[in-house]
Amino acid sequence: MNIIKKDAVILGGGPAGLAAALKLKEKGIDNIIILEREKKTGGILRQCIHDGFGIVRFKEALSGPEYADRFVQEVQRQNIEVQTEATVIGLTNDKIVTAATKEGLKKYQAKVVILTMGCRERTRGAISIPGTRPAGVYTAGVAQSYINLKNIMIGKKVVILGSGDIGLIMARRLTLEGAEVLAVIEKQPYPSGLPRNIEQCLNDYNIPLYLSHTVTNIQGKERLESVTVSKVDEKGQAIEGTEKEYNCDTLILSVGLIPENELSLQAGVELHPRTKGPIVDENLQTNVEGIYAAGNVLHVHDLVDFVSIEGEKLAESAAKYIKGEKGYESIIPVTTDHTINNVVPQKISGEQDVEISLRVSKPSKDGQIIMQQGNKVIMMKKFKKLNPAEMIHIKLKKEEIQSKEEIKVVVG
Ligand SMILES: Cc1cc2nc3c(=O)[nH]c(=O)nc-3n(C[C@H](O)[C@H](O)[C@H](O)COP(=O)(O)OP(=O)(O)OC[C@H]3O[C@@H](n4cnc5c(N)ncnc54)[C@H](O)[C@@H]3O)c2cc1C
Repeated sequence: MNIIKKDAVILGGGPAGLAAALKLKEKGIDNIIILEREKKTGGILRQCIHDGFGIVRFKEALSGPEYADRFVQEVQRQNIEVQTEATVIGLTNDKIVTAATKEGLKKYQAKVVILTMGCRERTRGAISIPGTRPAGVYTAGVAQSYINLKNIMIGKKVVILGSGDIGLIMARRLTLEGAEVLAVIEKQPYPSGLPRNIEQCLNDYNIPLYLSHTVTNIQGKERLESVTVSKVDEKGQAIEGTEKEYNCDTLILSVGLIPENELSLQAGVELHPRTKGPIVDENLQTNVEGIYAAGNVLHVHDLVDFVSIEGEKLAESAAKYIKGEKGYESIIPVTTDHTINNVVPQKISGEQDVEISLRVSKPSKDGQIIMQQGNKVIMMKKFKKLNPAEMIHIKLKKEEIQSKEEIKVVVG
């Protein structure tokens, strides 16, 4: 098979991939292709028709398709090659990319591979809810795509499990489409979505949120008939005797997202146990030289604005690599303890300023994020509120880094 040579092959045409392509082009890299499995680029934003996108980047509240369109149009204007309906099915550590396309299999040899495949939703199987297997159980993203892209209404009486942003947004969407949302059920003692979504999607529509509760059974033969909801203790275990039954025809699961990492694994990219995405250095390069990652495939973001910024940052480093410029070696590990859910990048050089992105593991007031090397605090930032739903971005200046010793990030 003819192998097509490319400077950069971008896997996935969502906001991260589109932003990376544009920045590469700006940096003088022309021989690029974006491979996208759907009919159109734009990624998950195509189905997010609510507004709230672009506030950081454009200082405007755009819908998902509007935000994506700004990048899609620019990619067209810049004549960047895009192949849609092309599913990448193979990636090797020497950067050979195999894609299944309408014209058959295609193979590319890339100087740089950019991983921007986004993430997938956790399903009922991932959280093992017992009970029957009737129709009417959907993940939030699938429900969203039925309603917003295919114009198919999915049910009338709905219970939502999980108070992540997608679940909250679907509570409002289903209400606006005429369904009755009986309750949003959350296992944690705090909501997992952004405060603005709790206000605008639940409180504005009088939809009750039950914290420290979970769905413990599903009933129904052909179609869902009811779900059982129980209180949970501090360990997340259902408390016997607290069961309550909700008659409903639809259960929406919004129980977390996982980076789409099969291709990364094929290429020998090391994954991080907490982010579940690749381990990267300050250039967003993985352990496989020339393979970079950004966006939700790297770690799940709260706002798309930061996804685009990350795609651009990646492209700046990737462009240098393509031009043969040698970067600093990242030898300082960045680690956390139980107070932080995850941190990116996980390795830095200490030779330049670096932005650390992180999520705390539980909400608190008047907390501080501390970075330390050994016993020495090298950076401390105070926050009125810390919330796991919000990603925090902290700039660490090179003067603050004391040595090549590990940097530990904790909530103080
Ligand atoms: C329901 C929902 C609501 C949201 N609401 C907001 C909000 O209000 N404000 C906000 O800022 N953000 C919001 N977000 C988050 C934002 O949409 C994401 O952070 C952003 O889209 C992630 O961009 P990405 O490019 O990393 O991934 P994606 O947008 O997921 O793009 C990945 C692309 O890769 C393609 N792909 C995957 N695998 C392959 C393969 N093997 N071959 C070829 N192509 C492949 C996919 O088809 C997809 O197009 C929301 C997300 C969801 C799901």
